[in-house]
Amino acid sequence: MTAHPHLPLTAEPIMGTPLAETHAEPLAPPALSLAGVTKRYRETLALDDVSFMVHPGELVALVGPSGAGKSTVFRCLTRLVTADAGHVAVLGTRLDDLRGSRLREVRRRIGLIFQQFNLIGRLSALDNVLAGRLGHVSTLRVATRLFPAEDRQIALAALDRVGLLEKAYQRADSLSGGQQQRVAIARVLAQQSRVVLADEPVSSLDPSSAANVIGVLRDIAREHRIGVLCALHQVDFARDYADRIVALRAGRLVLDVPARHFDDAAFARVYGATAA
Ligand code: ADP
Repeated sequence: MTAHPHLPLTAEPIMGTPLAETHAEPLAPPALSLAGVTKRYRETLALDDVSFMVHPGELVALVGPSGAGKSTVFRCLTRLVTADAGHVAVLGTRLDDLRGSRLREVRRRIGLIFQQFNLIGRLSALDNVLAGRLGHVSTLRVATRLFPAEDRQIALAALDRVGLLEKAYQRADSLSGGQQQRVAIARVLAQQSRVVLADEPVSSLDPSSAANVIGVLRDIAREHRIGVLCALHQVDFARDYADRIVALRAGRLVLDVPARHFDDAAFARVYGATAA
């Protein structure tokens, strides 16, 4: 097998981010990698030769103005769209040629967190978290909702980890936005994902709930060696909570730096005259 020129065989950091400065695990394969990814929608070049990685244990914030290509990165990583050029890999498995059951199997390993929580409102917090175990239990058990005791233990432990054990039997739609997002985090924990894609997870929350949710995401990334890629509108949260910030502008990667290096000059480079 020949190596793609953009895909290093070792987990070398790109654009000069020393791994020691993040919470990454240098010897493990990257949780996520994009190598020379280009994606065009008709006449729009949405991604232009974009390469970056997310290592196990780190929270990487993906920032950039509206239209920069953040959603397209997420769509490529879940193979909702196929890149025109370049490669995308999840936990060392390249998605490019996968189809059918093999693609579904890789997708199951990706935990997803959305802006609008995507919980089933009439179900309890616990049942929503148990939904994260669906890939681990038989169809018959799913149909009868007879989850093994072990799954319930895993789900309850996940709720406990996000501070919501006492809400386990409460309907999801009776919880606050911040609590619902923490249930969604518990769901990816119960799913035992090593990779999480979080698409604007705190955009609909008040600042203090948002800080709480992003803090929990960062902490579980470190504790469980999960690689988290988190699209964020709020650069302040990215600076305060992310290990690294990857910035796109008009489809091009313009920065990949430790979060504390994202200063006003970096902000201007990414957002320029556009609104953040
Ligand atoms: P972001 O998530 O950063 O706002 P997107 O990935 O949604 O950016 O969009 C990147 C570019 O691709 C934008 O110019 C957008 O208008 C364009 N685009 C996104 N989706 C489509 C589509 N389905 N068809 C045509 N153009 C699209």
